[in-house]
Amino acid sequence: MSVEMSKPVPRPGILDIAAYVPGKEHAPGVARVYKLSSNETPLGASPKAIEAFKAAAGNLERYPDGQALELREAIASVHGLNPANILCGNGSDELLGLLCHVYLGPGDEGIITEHGFLVYKIQIMGAGATPVVVKEKNHTVDVDAILAAVTDKTKIVFIANPGNPTGTYIPVSEIRRLQAGLPKHVVLVLDAAYAEYVRRNDYESGIEVVSSNANVVMTRTFSKAYGLAALRVGWMYAPVEIIDALNRVRGPFNMNAPAIAAGAAAIRDQSFVQEAVSFNQMWIEKLTSAFEAIGLKVTPSVANFVLIHFPETDGKRAADADEFLTSRGYILRAVRSYGFPNSLRMSVGPEEANHGVIEALGEFMGRKA
Ligand SMILES: *Cc1c(COP(=O)(O)O)cnc(C)c1O
Repeated sequence: MSVEMSKPVPRPGILDIAAYVPGKEHAPGVARVYKLSSNETPLGASPKAIEAFKAAAGNLERYPDGQALELREAIASVHGLNPANILCGNGSDELLGLLCHVYLGPGDEGIITEHGFLVYKIQIMGAGATPVVVKEKNHTVDVDAILAAVTDKTKIVFIANPGNPTGTYIPVSEIRRLQAGLPKHVVLVLDAAYAEYVRRNDYESGIEVVSSNANVVMTRTFSKAYGLAALRVGWMYAPVEIIDALNRVRGPFNMNAPAIAAGAAAIRDQSFVQEAVSFNQMWIEKLTSAFEAIGLKVTPSVANFVLIHFPETDGKRAADADEFLTSRGYILRAVRSYGFPNSLRMSVGPEEANHGVIEALGEFMGRKA
């Protein structure tokens, strides 16, 4: 007979989870605020996506297509994939959660990296399993460290490539080496949320590795380069057996109709996203060299944000810079919970905000930018 409790009690482990805290949005008392804390695009969504979203307003009484076929076909045609290997989610966050729900249980281990995205840990623990954290090297995923951490309890490995909040990446040769070193039953999750932004010849988002292996999945999002964060649109490219397993437990209408319509229109508008990527590339370079010129260290980024490291000097630490920038309306992301107590992450913003942060940090550091 089970012990009676005086109130409902969550499963063991649930109350050990530290809930996700999003980037802050407000700077009290400041007239013009720039939110540079959530890696949102400064360029908005494609006008075609906005149009499709508005058109969807005419049919709100109808359930969405539970297969999200229009969106899956649009993604498949742009990326040259089979729609049967694509599953869409209410943000890629939902897909990360479903993977844990399906492949993990109590006693299992999920490997994550030192500065990895916090959602992985939350979802591993939510499934009752144990997160195993491995070191990174120079703020970059270390394949050897991951392989050394594999035990007979390991069921899943999460890496973000590029990483958030680091902005670093590992080349496809390293991804292949990681896959080759893992037991065949371990799911390797390649979270490529920032793939659109990467301009490196040795980078591959994961499509090729998924296509040639039964245990690799790639997740992608419309929240970043496509500018649809509010709508929650993510997708996964995976072997059909994995898609089938996730389809058994997902909500039957997990994607809403405006999101399906806007997502399909957004991905068909590749010229819009290419412009966003060019704008980003220019600013990643400008921000990095400007911050280095005023004496700050910046982790080299291939994504749409930079990780800025502050001096260990009283009055010049990340917390001081955060306060200073917030008072001027520039909201960056404190990344203490990601293992960077003296750093801030800045998303590439609109031109005037980027210039503004360069100028403000120059003043903060007592140097001319
Ligand atoms: C932003 C981000 C996502 C995207 O999440 P959505 O749920 O699709 O908005 C996924 N992974 C990482 C590492 C991210 O930074």
